[in-house]
Amino acid sequence: MNGLQLEFITPPPISKRTLELGVKYSPEFVCMPMKINLGNFIEALEMGADTIVMGGGWGPCRFGYYAQIEKEILQELGYDFQMLVLEAPDSKLKILLRQLQSLGQNVSLWQALKSIKFAWDKLNAVEQVEKGLEYFLPRAVHPDQVERIYQQGLEEIIAARNADQSFKMARQAVQSMQKLELKSQAPLKIGLVGEIYTVLEPAANYEIIKMLGRLGVEVKRTIYMSDWVNDHLLGGHVKPSVRSQLIASARPYLNYWVGGHGQETVGTTVAMARQGCDGIIQIGPLTCMPEIVAQTILPLVSEKEGIPCMTLWFDELTGTAGIQTRLEAFIDMVSRRKYTAGYVKEA
Ligand code: SF4
Repeated sequence: MNGLQLEFITPPPISKRTLELGVKYSPEFVCMPMKINLGNFIEALEMGADTIVMGGGWGPCRFGYYAQIEKEILQELGYDFQMLVLEAPDSKLKILLRQLQSLGQNVSLWQALKSIKFAWDKLNAVEQVEKGLEYFLPRAVHPDQVERIYQQGLEEIIAARNADQSFKMARQAVQSMQKLELKSQAPLKIGLVGEIYTVLEPAANYEIIKMLGRLGVEVKRTIYMSDWVNDHLLGGHVKPSVRSQLIASARPYLNYWVGGHGQETVGTTVAMARQGCDGIIQIGPLTCMPEIVAQTILPLVSEKEGIPCMTLWFDELTGTAGIQTRLEAFIDMVSRRKYTAGYVKEA
C-alpha cells in the first residue's frame, strides 16, 4: 500500500472486542472467519477507513458471499465506505491485475509491480521466521526465548524498508534460534491441516502452533500464505506448487473438489502419514462445510494409513483451557503409541 501511495489503516490485532463485534452483527450460523472479518472492518471503519479491500471467491462454500453480506451489514449499521472485491481469479494473472488497477492509479505500472514484489518478499521473510518458530519451539530448553526472538523478528521485518533488509532480519532471527540450548530428544511431529484462515490466523486457532510447540511437538503444515498466493493468484509459476501432489494423494479417498481446503486436508493427511508424521490435527471453524466433508473421511484415512487423527472446531464459545486439555490428551496418546515397545507401524 505504501508503494502504491495509498494511505492505509491497519485494524488493531484481533481481540475479544473484534470477535464480540463480529458475533453481534453476523448471522448466528455463519462461520467464524466471517465474524472476525466483520469485527476487523468495524474497527477499521471506526479508525477512519473509507475503503475496504476484500477477497472474493466462488464455489460450494460460503466465502464467495462474505463480501456482499458484510457490505450490507455495514451499510445497515450506517457506515459510509466503498468496498473493492478482488475475486480470486485462480491463476489468471491478467484478471487480477485488472482488478488491482483501481488501487494503483497513483503510480506507474512498474512501481505497482515493484510494490507487489516487495509485499511478496516480505511475506516470504515472515514465513522463514514462522518456520523457525515451528522447528525450534519444541526443541528449545527455554521456549520463551524462541517466542521472544520470533516476535522481535516479525517486528523487524515489518519495519524493513526493502527486500534485502527483510530477508536479513529473517535470517538473523533464525540464526539466533539456532544458537539456543536445545533438548537432546527429537520432538513428535504432528501435521496441522484444515481450513486456511484457521490454520493461518493465530487469533482464530487460539495460538495452537505455540501451544503444541510448548507441549514438545513440531508442527508440520502445507498451508502457508505464500503457497495460496502462488497457487491461486500467480499460476503456480513463482515457486514449486505442492497442491497437485496433495490432490493426487487425496484421490483414493476424495476424488472431487468440495470447496475450501477439504480435498487438501485429506491429501495432506495421506502425504504426512506416508512421510512418517506421528499424528494429524485437523482444525476449522464450526460449521465449515469443506472441513466437515474431510472430517467424515479422516477416520478411514487414519485406519488405512495408520495415523491418529483428531479434529478441533473453533467458534466464539471455544476456551483455551478446553483446547489445551484436548491437545494434551491427544499428544499423550500419540507419544505412548510411538514409544510403546513392540509397536510396529502397519505398512
Ligand atoms: S472454507 Fe469453511 S470457513 Fe471458509 S468460508 Fe467456506 S465454510 Fe466458511
